[in-house]
Amino acid sequence: MLHIQESVLEINFKALKQNFEFLTSKTKSGTKILAVVKAYGYGSDAIEIAKFLQDELQIDYFAVAYIREGAYLRAAGITTPILVLHPQIGNLKHAIAYNLEPSLYSDRIFTAFAKEAAKQGKKDYPVHIKFNTGLNRLGFFHTDTDFVIKKLKTLSQIKAVSIFSHLAASEDLNEKEFTQNQIQLFKEISAQFQKELNYKPILHMTNTSGILNYPEAHFDMVRTGIGLYGFGNDPKYDKYLQPVASLKSVISQIHRIEKGESVGYNRAFVADDYVTIATIPLGHADGISRQYGNGVGSVVINGKLAPIVGNVCMDMLMVNITGIRCNEGDEVIIFGEGQSAEAFAKKINSISYEILTAVSQRVKRVFLR
Ligand SMILES: *Cc1c(COP(=O)(O)O)cnc(C)c1O
Repeated sequence: MLHIQESVLEINFKALKQNFEFLTSKTKSGTKILAVVKAYGYGSDAIEIAKFLQDELQIDYFAVAYIREGAYLRAAGITTPILVLHPQIGNLKHAIAYNLEPSLYSDRIFTAFAKEAAKQGKKDYPVHIKFNTGLNRLGFFHTDTDFVIKKLKTLSQIKAVSIFSHLAASEDLNEKEFTQNQIQLFKEISAQFQKELNYKPILHMTNTSGILNYPEAHFDMVRTGIGLYGFGNDPKYDKYLQPVASLKSVISQIHRIEKGESVGYNRAFVADDYVTIATIPLGHADGISRQYGNGVGSVVINGKLAPIVGNVCMDMLMVNITGIRCNEGDEVIIFGEGQSAEAFAKKINSISYEILTAVSQRVKRVFLR
């Protein structure tokens, strides 16, 4: 256990390894694993997470959302293939410069990338063809299949190393029929590629919840983000997956105030009795949304929940510690042991993904190896 003296995001590599092993155990042997490390590794630390996955766990693939994120990993020495899920048209030459593999999801991006690869004299540059099977976010439509195959056959500068799609509701078993239709459509699309190309692209479709709920959709590779970071979008996985990141801080100062006194900006909290207030050095600039103010969110101090009082400030927040034995300098847990990021997120009708990725870069990352 570290002695915390400032706000820190603790990153637990043992948990990461355990999550990786659990998710791997859910797939057939030989299924490739792609780790999604976009958004700074879901707010943790993309470089340290990627290095660990590459060097200790021999991960097969990485994915990021944007080219800049991939370049950042390459600059840090990551050599594993990196799929860029959402490349932007203005940065395509950088994708090639950093050896990043773009998802080509529309005629516009396909044409632009093929042109750039030709301009740079590339041969069989790896690209990933994305199909929209129902999410209606990114991807070619299934009726584009023939057209895409024909294009791929005529262009020697690019090669489709994978064909993929993305599930819209893999965590929602009420949407099973919709999901099964997505899987069926993807099977039809990918079968056409397998038939008409003289090589076999990698097929992949599932995110974490798809790995857990739809083994029939694992194909050749699975993509996992949130599961690696310790959340399975269903309480039944809580005993197998362990949160990687814990957000901790300290009590900066304690104030004892009387009835009628107020706390924080706009005097949003007014004491109705004697209360004890602790100030914590984390605010909305650190990723603790103002929505948590005025009792909506709580933090854990010595095992007890202390509600946030008043408005969350940019750099700090205040909590009511009346009745909780604690001192200045004591540790505070925002999410981690005693309150999961998922539970904390739920207070503002959000999800673990949003809370984890919101932790700003000024919060120091510490690594437990
Ligand atoms: C972010 C993302 C994932 C990861 O999803 P998780 O639910 O975090 O496992 C997988 N595939 C695509 C296309 C994504 O954008």
